[in-house]
Amino acid sequence: MKPVTELIHHGYQAPTDFVSPQIAVHKASTVIFPNVQAMRERTWLDKTAYTYGLHGTPTTFTLEERIAHLEGAKHALLLPSGLAAITQVNMALLEQGDEVLLPDNVYGPHKTFAESELQRWGISHQFYNPMDLADLSARIGPHTRLIWLEAAGSVTLEFPDLLAMVQLAKAKGILTALDNTWGAGLAFAPFNLDPQANLGKVSVDVSVHALTKYPSGGGDVLMGSVTTCDDGLAKQLKLSHMRLGFGVGANDAELVLRSLPSMLLRYQQHDAATRRLAKWCLQQTAFAQVLHPAVVGSPGHADWRRLCANNQPTHEDVHTEGLAAGLLSLRFKPQFTQAQCETFCNALQLFKLGYSWGGPMSLIVPYQLSSLRRMAPNELLQGGFVRLSVGLEDADDLINDIAQALRQAGM
Ligand SMILES: *Cc1c(COP(=O)(O)O)cnc(C)c1O
Repeated sequence: MKPVTELIHHGYQAPTDFVSPQIAVHKASTVIFPNVQAMRERTWLDKTAYTYGLHGTPTTFTLEERIAHLEGAKHALLLPSGLAAITQVNMALLEQGDEVLLPDNVYGPHKTFAESELQRWGISHQFYNPMDLADLSARIGPHTRLIWLEAAGSVTLEFPDLLAMVQLAKAKGILTALDNTWGAGLAFAPFNLDPQANLGKVSVDVSVHALTKYPSGGGDVLMGSVTTCDDGLAKQLKLSHMRLGFGVGANDAELVLRSLPSMLLRYQQHDAATRRLAKWCLQQTAFAQVLHPAVVGSPGHADWRRLCANNQPTHEDVHTEGLAAGLLSLRFKPQFTQAQCETFCNALQLFKLGYSWGGPMSLIVPYQLSSLRRMAPNELLQGGFVRLSVGLEDADDLINDIAQALRQAGM
């Protein structure tokens, strides 16, 4: 054999009994089969064997199992982004003629997906008021196939009565899918929403999670997951996942595997700092509203407390009031101009202008709520609006940053 061939077919095999804390990064498009029979017989439908990199490697299988465990689910799939996880659930579970219901405060790009792709494929949608069970109930019709839930809702952080919504959907035989990015499998258990219930588990059917946020924790990975406890749904989702060609790179999977063990600590830190900021903001005259599920008076506060207090799946007795993530939204008093709100955002030094959240760096996004929302209470649309993602910086430094930006903006 010529050296060039030997470089590809070299005979050295490293000893296989290497054990270390972190799983290896197994990268592959091609997977090698020992013989033709194995090539014909191996299936990619479960985790019994390897067939092609797209359908899984030891690295991605391991991450899937850990994400399933985190969410209290039985099956998990990985996708190249949180948005891909959302679109995949819609594509796997809906068909022409079906209708899907979305909360009015659903993740923005999900709204756009329903209004464009789903519409083109003959799948209709309606938005419902997430804070009004009667509104959701009234919108359920003969073609309603799937109800999406989000807790807390995107940008405005209202916390819905998840338990009642899931029970309503179950009574009507409609599937529920939760965007669980905010709760992250830590604030509450999506597949066991009422641990005290003695008539069996109250559970969403499917949970999606933007692993981009807290599981990655670095602001440098894009990934999503879909989890379920139902074997039939898992198979339906897996088939669709395979046909659509969704898969993730092993290097990205490794980064999430490396960050997962510290996720609870980070989440608690984000949570504690965010509460301090919320408390401080409540005392400032610039703001008309401080939106955060743990703030008394924030929409859905009582529902947040009921669901998240004493319902923390992975860490009993850590925070009896319940966890509430690292997001905080602020509505300025309507007397302040749009220009002043922009000056405020530009004047911040530690909070950077940028989308996403869950990483170490604090971020801010100004929103024009009137273009996002249909059913928001009128007062919510008055005045400038910003969403803060509180990072892992010292909370006093962050408060000082907001204080100096308010002064610069004359607010
Ligand atoms: C960020 C986010 C997503 C999408 O995640 P990407 O990985 O950025 O596509 C979906 N839902 C919610 C609630 C999010 O915050």
